[in-house]
Amino acid sequence: MTIQNPDITQDLATVQLDPAQQVELNNLLNECQAHLESCDADLISKAFKLAFLSHKGIVRASGEPYYLHPLEVARIVVKEIGMDDVSVAAALLHDTVEDTEVSLDDIRSEFGPTVAHLIDGMTKISGVFKSKGAKQAETFMKLLLSMAEDLRVVLIKFADRLHNMRTIQHLPRKKQLSIANETMELFAPLAHRFGIYNIKSELEDLSFKTMDPTGYKFIARKLREKKDAREKFISKFLEPVEEQLRASGFKFNVKGRPKHIYSIYRKMTRQQKPFEEIYDLFAIRIILQEPHTKEDCWRVYSFITDSYTPIPERFRDFISVPKANGYQSLHTTVVSSTGQKVEIQIRTEKMDEIAERGFAAHWRYKEGPGKEQDINRFVSWVRDVLDNPRPEAATEFVEDFQLNLYTDEIYVFSPKGELKTLPKGATPIDFAFEIHSEVGERALAAKVNGKIVPLRLRLKSGDQVEIITGKQINLNPDWINDVVTHKARARLRQYIKQKERKVSNEGRQLWNKKADRAGIEISDQELAKVATRLRYSSLQMLFFDIGSGVYDVNKLLKAVKSYMSKGRVDESEARSDLDSPAADHYKIAYDINNIHGGGEGLILNGELTDVRFSFARCCNPIPGDDVVGFISREGDIKIHRVSCKNTRHLIKTDGERIVDVSWARNTGNQFMAAIRIVGEDRVGLVSDISSLISKNLKTNMKSINVTSDSGMFEGTLIIMVDGIGHLEKVIMRLQKVNGIKEVYRYE
Ligand code: MN
Repeated sequence: MTIQNPDITQDLATVQLDPAQQVELNNLLNECQAHLESCDADLISKAFKLAFLSHKGIVRASGEPYYLHPLEVARIVVKEIGMDDVSVAAALLHDTVEDTEVSLDDIRSEFGPTVAHLIDGMTKISGVFKSKGAKQAETFMKLLLSMAEDLRVVLIKFADRLHNMRTIQHLPRKKQLSIANETMELFAPLAHRFGIYNIKSELEDLSFKTMDPTGYKFIARKLREKKDAREKFISKFLEPVEEQLRASGFKFNVKGRPKHIYSIYRKMTRQQKPFEEIYDLFAIRIILQEPHTKEDCWRVYSFITDSYTPIPERFRDFISVPKANGYQSLHTTVVSSTGQKVEIQIRTEKMDEIAERGFAAHWRYKEGPGKEQDINRFVSWVRDVLDNPRPEAATEFVEDFQLNLYTDEIYVFSPKGELKTLPKGATPIDFAFEIHSEVGERALAAKVNGKIVPLRLRLKSGDQVEIITGKQINLNPDWINDVVTHKARARLRQYIKQKERKVSNEGRQLWNKKADRAGIEISDQELAKVATRLRYSSLQMLFFDIGSGVYDVNKLLKAVKSYMSKGRVDESEARSDLDSPAADHYKIAYDINNIHGGGEGLILNGELTDVRFSFARCCNPIPGDDVVGFISREGDIKIHRVSCKNTRHLIKTDGERIVDVSWARNTGNQFMAAIRIVGEDRVGLVSDISSLISKNLKTNMKSINVTSDSGMFEGTLIIMVDGIGHLEKVIMRLQKVNGIKEVYRYE
């Protein structure tokens, strides 16, 4: 890989780390081994090294070297979310493309397309945060989810945010508050949606701690004070149950964790109760080890009810009917011997992991052969969850977002990261009008995610759109069929009307002149009757066709004369059913007014310098040729001659990818052209031709190939010309050479 920073040009596989970093890497690899199903140690080592090298010399607000941040994010991905090795590599590299000289292409060539895709997603998502429109939770979530094709991107983003929250104390107070607020409003609800409860709880607690340190400390202290009493209570409470479990040969763990601080705070404020009265500060969880099954959970339930009285209305069976996000557990609340209500959750280890880690656990339990397929299934599963919010969750948590993936809207960005919401099916033209009507009117071309595309392309959520404008109005009436926003449509309609009016005025003037010269006087009313007989719906339309050259004004003169003398119009004068000329279809005018030697750097009206283009090999266009451009799948423009047979084919199959291109006046460059000559063979013909070309015409000849057969001569010349005029001159002069019968340009 080629990176400008001299420190990171080395081959990553051979980079030797200092002992301290080697230890960090080894620890990470061990953690991967312990928590992941499989782990490509080379991939992770390389990612670690690049993270270390590319962030070298940069420190965080805490004063620590920067690379420790991606390292910690990767560790969260491994230990607390538990995804796959590709995600770990992406986590290690998540800030490289945005903050260092490492490019996405570097990542792709070194780490493969999946890691690159994840990092691209991370970089895009960080654009979401900078955009002003995304500050509302709902927009934010819709946006994130609609653009993150691979939801691992969102999971890594959670890990990133979690580490930033854990180290937030090093930031200035003002920044702390805004980040904490954003975390509480945007990240925590989304983590809840994803079912990652452990991360959701910690994000809430850390935000709460930042925003209300006093409230946080109060509850934390109370919990600490109650800790001993709570633990004593739990062990006493569970004594009879555990005894029975052991006697029946059960293998299990018990968790008696209190609810997280923020959820206690919320309960206190919502229910207006003091700390002491929040009875279910903790729930006891009985987790059955492998290979216990869901049937065993029911047996545990029966043991509990043997010892304590359950409250029937508090019973929940999420095992037979799992929550939409896959959560499975038995919930029951019983009354202890001292009269205290205790909530108990019974589940297997696997169920517990899903409860704690939500999606990420599903990720780990993926089944089936193809990974691609897994990803798709995973994504559609997520969409399912989001499309069918479960009612029971609303009682338990914060405002439950009615999160639907709005399929009738897309979210795109301006180059500055400003968010625009557009109807589905919107094109760059719609986007341009959304920015400003002037931008829409002058749009020449669009770049989507850095690549030039046709203005008629349908945009997707997450696209970054840049509009390239010219100095003049460049509306194309045909766009009316492509736009979906009201603004764009209204302006195009108005433009079409204006244009029609202008053209029909021209048509009327043409007619007036004609009629004057012929000494004809006819009222508009009478003329309208003629128009009707010529099968025009109105006089206006007749004038429009005359103005645009579709209908010959002389024909109208004949028709009027015949109408005035005989009272009827000859049918043959009627309009033939001409369609408007096809050439009008593509009005995007690229001006190739600067062509550099290597075919790089197309300047579009002096404004765009980085459109990549090249000349089609099939027809070798030269300046002066009628040419069209085709936008290739890679986003660059291939220039063909209009007469090229491939052009005709492409117009049929890929009409949308056509752009009109035109030549600059003086390019000062030389182009290759081929000439075919046929004639009678004679001694000295080849030398005559070559001296004519190189001496008389001062033209550079690249090659000459001749074959001769029974006195006939056929040859192909390759010469360098500066344009069509030059080529025509050469052809003309060659035609005059003695013995040459035919000379023509050869493709
Ligand atoms: Mn980061």
